[in-house]
Amino acid sequence: MSALTPRPGIMKIAPYVPGKDSVEGKQTIAKLSSNEGALGPSPKAMAAYAKAATELHRYPDGDSGNLRAAIGRHYGLDAKRIVCGAGSDELLNLLVRAYCGPGDELLYSQFGFLMYPINALGVGATPVAAPENDYRADVDAMLAKVSDKTRVVCLANPNNPTGTYITKDDVRRLHAGLPKNVLLVIDAAYAEYVSRNDYESGVELVDQAENVVMTRTFSKIYGLGGLRLGWMYGPAGIVDVMSRLRQPFNVNLAAQAAGIAAMADIAHTDASRTNNDIWLPWLSTELTKLGLKPLPSVGNFVLVGFGSKERAAAANDWLMNDGLIPRMVAGYGLPEHLRITIGTESEVKAVHASLSRFVAANK
Ligand code: PMP
Repeated sequence: MSALTPRPGIMKIAPYVPGKDSVEGKQTIAKLSSNEGALGPSPKAMAAYAKAATELHRYPDGDSGNLRAAIGRHYGLDAKRIVCGAGSDELLNLLVRAYCGPGDELLYSQFGFLMYPINALGVGATPVAAPENDYRADVDAMLAKVSDKTRVVCLANPNNPTGTYITKDDVRRLHAGLPKNVLLVIDAAYAEYVSRNDYESGVELVDQAENVVMTRTFSKIYGLGGLRLGWMYGPAGIVDVMSRLRQPFNVNLAAQAAGIAAMADIAHTDASRTNNDIWLPWLSTELTKLGLKPLPSVGNFVLVGFGSKERAAAANDWLMNDGLIPRMVAGYGLPEHLRITIGTESEVKAVHASLSRFVAANK
């Protein structure tokens, strides 16, 4: 056995397993396993990417200045308080590295995004999960788990994989109940899909508090997951900390160019949102009619309950056999569910047809 051992906690990490992208021996009809934007990237983003290809010998802008300015203009935010990253995953990881360490606790919600406990273990901290209420983050349960060791609280709103969200008032209540030396990270990766009056991505709270940041991504509605691009908005103090820890040139040249172009293509973003607004409720309603249990989602995916883990696994195989790739979420403690990304009309209808046959064959 090797005398070389990693720092404590790291061997407790179960490596993150991304969604499958193909089915062996089958033609893939639709990859619905990673919540990638249904319409793909804007043609304008692709053109910007192609143009960037002629400049690949150049290092990118080290602090993504033009991109931050464009994000600032688009979302009405101060560019100086934006930090860009190689996916929001990078920023979530850096935040934990900055504010959490051995002996500390990172608090998250039971079915919260898997990278939170992984990031905590990576720095030798202890991930603490608060129980959820009906697959939704429970503010009281989270506050009850706060201890004097809690340093970071991560909340995905809306959450992946459940698709549920908590209201703006609840987010405020969570923040108000936290000690001032605890960082609240609001991960709003799916914010662009949400159109509820009682939802707020976190921007307003960031502007009022010194211990809150909001993270966002270009991987979902902008369809740029392959380029790895995310950003965060935070108070000046946290932005300063991130500028010390962040690698120089962490966002590549093509991602910066494509991100700017993607935001400018409002028509494409609107079409992506409209696609989701139509097909998310349609699929949820139709699956309910089949006797399945889709959770009420506000993201670009739906978590579907099959009643038992055997049935969920069988449905997974059935869909895969039809060339449709869902996501198994047993790693989240949800073995009775499958998560399905909302694709285009034909993809969503193919899922419905496949699951109709599955239900008929598995009465
Ligand atoms: N947060 C949540 C809630 C997510 O679902 C994802 C994507 N799986 C991410 C963060 C990371 O996104 P990215 O690194 O592609 O920006």
